[in-house]
Amino acid sequence: MKYVKCPRCGLNYILPDQQLCRVCLDELAGKKSIFDEDFDDLICPYCNKNKIDADEIMCAQCRAKRYKNGGDM
Ligand SMILES: [Zn+2]
Ligand SMILES: [Zn+2]
Repeated sequence: MKYVKCPRCGLNYILPDQQLCRVCLDELAGKKSIFDEDFDDLICPYCNKNKIDADEIMCAQCRAKRYKNGGDM
């Protein structure tokens, strides 16, 4: 399979039937560029298993556990 260079950034290679590379597509979709930090897959630091949002410190499971253990943070 032959690759061509992305016409927008000229950095990444894409398949001939693609218009733009992932990075450019993401950028056009309003996402942050990969050159910034990647906020896509934040993992809960407590269980290292579940995904969390950028504004969360722990996943729902860990939060529930913490409440059950009677901890008030
Ligand atoms: Zn590109
Ligand atoms: Zn967790």
